[in-house]
Amino acid sequence: MAVPFDQHEGEIWYDGAFVPWKDAKVHVLTHALHYASCVFEGERAYGGEIFECEAHTNRLFASAETLGFEIPYSKEVINAAKRETVKRMGLTDAYVRPVAWRGSEMMGVSAQKNTIHVAIASWAWPSYFDPAAREKGIRMMVADWRRPDPLTAPCHAKAAGLYMICTLSKHKAESNGYADAMMLDYRGQVAEATGANIFFQKDGKLHTPTPDCFLDGITRRTVIGLARSRGIEVVERVIMPDELASFEECFLTGTAAEVTPVGEIGPYNFTVGPITRALMDEYAVAVRPASAGLRDVA
Ligand code: PMP
Repeated sequence: MAVPFDQHEGEIWYDGAFVPWKDAKVHVLTHALHYASCVFEGERAYGGEIFECEAHTNRLFASAETLGFEIPYSKEVINAAKRETVKRMGLTDAYVRPVAWRGSEMMGVSAQKNTIHVAIASWAWPSYFDPAAREKGIRMMVADWRRPDPLTAPCHAKAAGLYMICTLSKHKAESNGYADAMMLDYRGQVAEATGANIFFQKDGKLHTPTPDCFLDGITRRTVIGLARSRGIEVVERVIMPDELASFEECFLTGTAAEVTPVGEIGPYNFTVGPITRALMDEYAVAVRPASAGLRDVA
């Protein structure tokens, strides 16, 4: 059994100072725990540098604002704290998890005066999906749960509450022998995976759902840029599930997932083809700091 996450060694940045990893605790009567008043980020450092550090911080602040609270530190302080966390943990290639939440002053739906807390942890997390399955393309099923209408939930925030349906969908997929689930949205359109965005390839063009009710991922935007700079057309549009039969390749994008090929979604099969492979390689180069000397390879 792997060491549980509350038992790692190291330090966590917690409300402005580093504390021993095992002491970075919250009380059971914390608003965030009961009412999901919590936002977070998932970032990766490569070669000692956090990829898109500022973009993730901007999203963390925007997510907090969407949930009606203000992070009590400047973006500069958070950026420096993230970098210092990776350094103190002695990591170069690492996952970084900032989290901000409402504390304990009020315990009810209303939490107008609650203190906002912020923590940043970092750990080594090499591959989100099993590396062998990743090589062949992961197997996915279609989730029962749907991404909510923007009038039903603050769907552009990276907020803890939005992950309830992701965990339910991922658990069901895993119980059925799949690696992940593809979620439709409230209209029945293809949306995304439980923690990553989705792309399809047909006739040399990429097709990806318009992110109007789910996270427009930072990796998604990076990969769209990489594809376009290679001359690959990227079409953001409505994709209906019955179109899956017509696509040749499929992959997921996300900070944790990076570019992960998909081999199967329910009855539909895809090949791990040249465009997916090229973008996997280009992404792996793009995330490395220029100082690592790898950027010129592509
Ligand atoms: N959708 C969901 C539900 C996610 O959890 C993530 C991961 N943050 C993404 C998409 C991809 O976002 P990003 O590329 O910014 O990591």
